[in-house]
Amino acid sequence: MIEHLTTKETFPQKKEETKTMADSLQQAYQKLGLSKAVLEFALKQEAALQERFAAIDRVAEINQMKVLAAMQKNRVSEIHFAASSGYGYNDLGRDTLEAVYADAFHTESALVRPSIMCGTHALTVALSGNLRPGDEILSPVGKPYDTLDGVIGITKTPGSLAEYGITYRQVDLLPDGGFDWEGIRAALGERTRLVTIQRSKGYATRPTLSVARIGELISFIKKIKPTVICMVDNCYGEFVEPLEPTDVGADLCVGSLIKNPGGGLAPIGGYIAGKKEYVDQASYRLSCPGLGREVGASLGFNQSFFQGLFLAPTVVAGALKGAVFAANLYEALGFFVVPNGSEARHDIIQAVTFGKPEGVIAFCKGIQAAAPVDSFVTPEPWDMPGYSDPVIMAAGAFVQGSSIELSADAPIKPPYAVYFQGGLTWYHAKFGIMMSLQKMLEAGLVTV
Ligand SMILES: *Cc1c(COP(=O)(O)O)cnc(C)c1O
Repeated sequence: MIEHLTTKETFPQKKEETKTMADSLQQAYQKLGLSKAVLEFALKQEAALQERFAAIDRVAEINQMKVLAAMQKNRVSEIHFAASSGYGYNDLGRDTLEAVYADAFHTESALVRPSIMCGTHALTVALSGNLRPGDEILSPVGKPYDTLDGVIGITKTPGSLAEYGITYRQVDLLPDGGFDWEGIRAALGERTRLVTIQRSKGYATRPTLSVARIGELISFIKKIKPTVICMVDNCYGEFVEPLEPTDVGADLCVGSLIKNPGGGLAPIGGYIAGKKEYVDQASYRLSCPGLGREVGASLGFNQSFFQGLFLAPTVVAGALKGAVFAANLYEALGFFVVPNGSEARHDIIQAVTFGKPEGVIAFCKGIQAAAPVDSFVTPEPWDMPGYSDPVIMAAGAFVQGSSIELSADAPIKPPYAVYFQGGLTWYHAKFGIMMSLQKMLEAGLVTV
C-alpha cells in the first residue's frame, strides 16, 4: 500500500534538525583540523554556486548516459573482466573496451591499453604511427605541453621525431587568445601531414579551448587541406562538455587514463580514439608493424578500465565543482584566478596566483593535509630534474601521479601561481580547498 512507502519525515527539515546537521558537519571538519571561520566562509561561497553546480551535474548526466549506452550497445559482460596473458590474442575484454571507447567518442575505432604508459606516450604513439620522414607537424595553438618538446624535437632530444626527418611548425594564438587564421593558412604547407591541437591550456597562460572552438578550427583547416590529420590532445578535457573533439571533426583524440576518463580507478593507461586508418597506424607503432592491435594482453586491468570509464562523468563533475569553488573562494579573497569565478569551463585545471612563495607553499600543504593517502607528509619545494626552478607538489593519491585525484603543483617563481586539479569526489575536492585556506590562515597570509 502507498502509505507504507511514504515517510513520516518531510523536507525542509525542522529548524532543530537543520541545526543538528550543521553541528555534525562542523564537528566532522573540526576533527580534521578545519576551523569554524574557514568553514563558514567556504559555505557562503558554496551557497552562491548552486546554479553552476546544477549545470555541471546536467553535463555529467548526459555523459553518464553516453557511456552507459556505449556499454549496453557492446553488451559488456562479466566475461570481459577476465585477464588475458602472454600475447593476448583474442582478448575479448580488451576488444570490447575499445569498442566502448569508440562508441563513447563516436569514432570508428579506439586503442585503449595498459601498455600506453601515460598521456605523453599516447601522443607519441599517435604521432609517430602516423608520420613519415619529410612530413610536417603544425600546432596552430602555440607551443604544446612541455613533455612534447622532446618528443617532437622542439628541444634537441635523442629519439625525437626531428631525428626521423619530421619537421615542426607552430602558429601562436593572438594576444587575445584568438586563432591567427591568416598565420594558420600560411603555415599549412604541402608537407603538413598532421595538425596537433591541445584542448587544455595545461600549465600555459592561454585560455583552454572549448569543443566548439576546436570544431571551428578544424573546419577551417580541412577546408584548406582536407587530407591533413587533425589530432586533439584531449588531456584534462574528457567529459567536461557534452561533446568531445571527435564530435566536431577531430580525426584522432588522445588522452591519459590516469586523468579524466580513467575515473580514478584505472591504475595506468592511455587511449587513442578516431578514424580506423589512423588508429591502426598508431597500433603498428604501439606494438609492431604487422601485429598492431591483435597483440597486447590486458593482464586483468579491464574491469578497472570499464568501471573507471563508467564513473568518469561523475568524477569529472566533482573535480569541476572543486575548480569552480576554488576560483570563487580565492577570487573573493582578492587573488587572481584563471579561469575566473564565473567563466565557462573546458578543462579541470584551476590556477591561483599568490604573488609570493609562502602562499604557494601554504596552499600545497593544505592540499596534502587533506589527502586520503600520505596526509601526514609535508610537501617542500625541491629541485626536480628538468625544471629550472624548485617545484612544490602536493599529492596524496591512490595511483602515483594521478591528476584526476586531488593534486597541486607549482614552480617557485613569479608570479607564484599554483595549479591544482582533480578530486575523486566533490566533498574531497571541497575539503582540500578549505584546508588550503586553513593553512593560508594559519600562516597569517589571509584573513576571513
Ligand atoms: C598531462 C598532459 C599531457 C601528458 O600526459 P602525461 O600523462 O603526464 O604524460 C599532455 N598534454 C596535456 C594537455 C596534459 O595535460
